[in-house]
Amino acid sequence: MVIDMNKKKLILDKLIKEMEIAHRENEVPVSAVIFDKKYNIISYAHNKRQKNKDVLGHAEILAIQAAGNKIGDWRLDGYSMIVSLEPCDMCSIVIDESRLDKVYYLVKQDGNKYEINIEKEKISGYEEYDKKAEELLTTFFDNMRWKPLFLWYNKSQEVYLWVIKFYIENTGLLILIML
Ligand SMILES: [Zn+2]
Repeated sequence: MVIDMNKKKLILDKLIKEMEIAHRENEVPVSAVIFDKKYNIISYAHNKRQKNKDVLGHAEILAIQAAGNKIGDWRLDGYSMIVSLEPCDMCSIVIDESRLDKVYYLVKQDGNKYEINIEKEKISGYEEYDKKAEELLTTFFDNMRWKPLFLWYNKSQEVYLWVIKFYIENTGLLILIML
């Protein structure tokens, strides 16, 4: 079968676009696209854990649910998924249960304990998409890392104010005693 490069690019474009939407919505920028053997897009999703206030709101699970609704079957054999970040343990279990043929990913993730049963592959040959996905994830997690510093800064401002207040109050007390 001749692989339609344009269709593959459409899938990857969708994946990045969904990552960008997640990023704008302050969700971890992870997205998933499910496609058939001819590389037609069946469903896509981005993380919505914050928005939906739902622990199951990972892109992979949302894309699996959307695909099931579309094809009218929870069994997704004959379809594959591409994810911007290697699936976590929770999603890996759901992916196994969904009977998808294969899962591809752009950015590798460390720390998984669950060994996924279906074929999993880091896609290669699409460096510009790899770079973009890594960039979006790094920016997101860098911002998260800076957040505590801002909180600390605000907190420390409160402390300074308290010290100044304490100083003024006690100096006033001192003056009173001296009088
Ligand atoms: Zn997950």
